[in-house]
Order: sequence, then C-alpha cells, then structure tokens
Amino acid sequence: MALIVQKYGGTSVGSIDRIRNVANRIKTEREKGHKVVAVISAMGGETDKLIGMASQLASEPVEREMDVLLSSGEQQSIALLTIALNEIGVEAVSATGRQAGIITSGSHTRGRIEDIKPAVIDRYLAEDKTIVVAGFQGITEEGLIHTLGRGGSDLSAIAVASAVKADICQILTDVDGVYTADPRVVEKARKLPEISYDELLELASVGTKVMQSRSVEFAKKYGVKFEVRSSLNENPGTIVTEEHEAMESVVIRGVSIERSQARVTITGIPDTPGMSGKILGALAEAEVNIDMIVSNIAHDGCARHSFTMHTNDLGRSQVALKPVLAELDGDAAIETEAGIGKLSCVGIGMRSHSGVAAKMFEALGEANINIGMISTSEIKISVTVEEEQIEEAARVVHSAFGLDA
Ligand code: ASP
Ligand code: MG
Repeated sequence: MALIVQKYGGTSVGSIDRIRNVANRIKTEREKGHKVVAVISAMGGETDKLIGMASQLASEPVEREMDVLLSSGEQQSIALLTIALNEIGVEAVSATGRQAGIITSGSHTRGRIEDIKPAVIDRYLAEDKTIVVAGFQGITEEGLIHTLGRGGSDLSAIAVASAVKADICQILTDVDGVYTADPRVVEKARKLPEISYDELLELASVGTKVMQSRSVEFAKKYGVKFEVRSSLNENPGTIVTEEHEAMESVVIRGVSIERSQARVTITGIPDTPGMSGKILGALAEAEVNIDMIVSNIAHDGCARHSFTMHTNDLGRSQVALKPVLAELDGDAAIETEAGIGKLSCVGIGMRSHSGVAAKMFEALGEANINIGMISTSEIKISVTVEEEQIEEAARVVHSAFGLDA
C-alpha cells in the first residue's frame, strides 16, 4: 500500500468523458489498496477562456481579480472530478488551495509556494478518503488568493507530494514520458526509464517541453521523486530523480532542437574595457533574450562578438544596438543572419567522459553539416547549424551516441 499523489493536467480532465476516465483510474489505484491525493488543473482551455473574458474588459486587468478569476477554473474541475468519484463508489472530497493549506507569497498571478499545512489533507487521508486538490492556487498568510503562473499545477503536485510525504508523485499528462529526442523529429527516439533533475532542466532550457521548469527545480530542492506518464494508457513513464552513479554510464541522455534562431555579429569593436557590458546592456534594456555568446580574441585592436537569439528578437536588437554602434565611432558594424537551428546534447555522463564534443562534431562533419557556433556547459553541448539541416543533425547525433531504438 502506497500513498500516491497523481497530477492530471488540463487535457486529461478536458471533457466530462475524460473526467470520468480519471475517476476510473483513481478507482483502480484505490482497489489496489493505495491512498490517492489527486492534484488537478482546470479543464483544458478553461484558463485561456477566463483570461480572454478579462481581456475584453481591460487591457491590463487588476491582478488581484485575475487570481480570483483564474482560480475558479480549478475549483470547477476539482468539484466535477469529486462528483464523478463519489458516483462510482470512491469516497472523495475536494480541497481548494486554501483548504489544502497551500500557503503562498510573492505577487498576484506569480505566487510562490512558501509552505503547505497539510492538516486537512492528513485528516481526510486518516479517514481513508481520496482527496482532490486544486492545482495552480494557494492563499497568502493574509488570506489573498494567488495563482502560481501558467502550468502551475505541476508545482502544486510536487509540493503536495513533498508535504504529505507521498511514496511517489505521478505527473499524468498527454505525453507518456521523457524521450531521448522528439519522436516527431527522430523516429528512433526512445522513452527514457529515468532521468536526473538536472538533465531534465537542461533539456527543458533547450526546447524539450515536458513540464514547468520551476516544478522540477522545486522537486530537486526537496528531493521529490516523480514520474511523468500518460493519463491515456497504463505504460510506465519516466522517473525523474536525483542522479546516481549508474546514470553516469550513459554519456548523452537526450538531444533537443530549437528552431527559428538568429545570429547577430558585431565587428570592429574597440578592444577596451567596458565594451561588452555596453553592448549586452543595450540588449538587456531592450529585453532581448540572448542565448549563446561567442567573442573572438581581438585582432588589430578590434574585437567581434556574436550572439544568438530567437528570430522574433532580431528586429528589436538591431534597433537597440544602433545607437551603441554609433557611439563606438570607428569601424563597428553589425551583421545578422536568420534561419539558424540549435542542437543540444545533454547528459551528466559528460562530466566523467572525455571526447564527447569531438564525437558530436565528427558525426555532424561526416553528414556534411556545417557547425556555426558552439557553446558548452557542464552537462550540455550546443551547436548552431542551418535551420534546414536541424532535423538531420538531430538524427545523426542521436545515432552517434547510441540512442537509437
Ligand atoms: N490551469 C492553469 C493553466 O492553464 C494551470 C495548469 O494547467 O497547470 O496554466
Ligand atoms: Mg493547463
């Protein structure tokens, strides 16, 4: 007998039939003798619908009321699921964020979970009831309703699992786990049995969308092991957990791609202190999100810097850089290129294996794929290639690291 926290996202509770399906799944767990705390999202599309209504009334609706409004989506779904559970003979009660003792701080629409006081959940668990908790919401010490930012139910589930000391937290969603690559791009991608928090976070930062990163960070901080699995079938999913020694034998856990990247190169920058700060400062001011940065050793007193960013930010960065370049008087010039793709390999095994970058670059070279920029971190290597070649690049590298099914 285990205590299981199950999180069901908006798609999984997106219709009356699906709510019924979730109720049956929970019933199955109960019949196996397990206790269940379900944490759920609003029915799919509901949160967007509520935002849409508010934005017809105001271009910037007061955030306090957005929290009151948006939290109603989850209040609906918990009641509906609890009704469905009782109807099939599973004794269940619902709990809003407040009732579940989810205490938040921070600001409206971006609340942070500070603490969970699980007295009410514990009492119902002691009475052997199933509890359905509203995700995405909490309450401040002063009694104000907070929501936790889009996709915040994942965070609620991880936090509840930690507070009730669940044996396992299952994130039930419309993907059936974490893959070595996006199966739509790399046909031979495999579902991973397990992955470390850090690897999942790195993959998420380079385009693999599984769940909200904030909840993975929270899980890492509190050591909550969880499983990402499908709410539509019974297949085992992917366990996300602390890294352990056996994990290091795999050099690369997964590859991920990002499209629509652009490069800006500034040439003729005087090789004097403060230049990089000036350039990056202007981009930060314009809220351009810089990704890779490559700077070359100065030649003839002039340096060059290249950055990548999303193509959407290209125009804004050109506007922001113009006055800076004018100020630099001399030969400073700006060059831009769009149509770039970024390929990243992630794996904690990189720390203990050498030649990983060489292997990746050789594989790309053999496939006649030219590498633009390169950047590395402790457990990640990223390169840019022509966007047209990004899918092939992903397949080639996936195969070179022995990840193919
Ligand atoms: N319902 C909220 C949203 O759509 C929270 C969630 O789904 O996790 O963002
Ligand atoms: Mg959602």
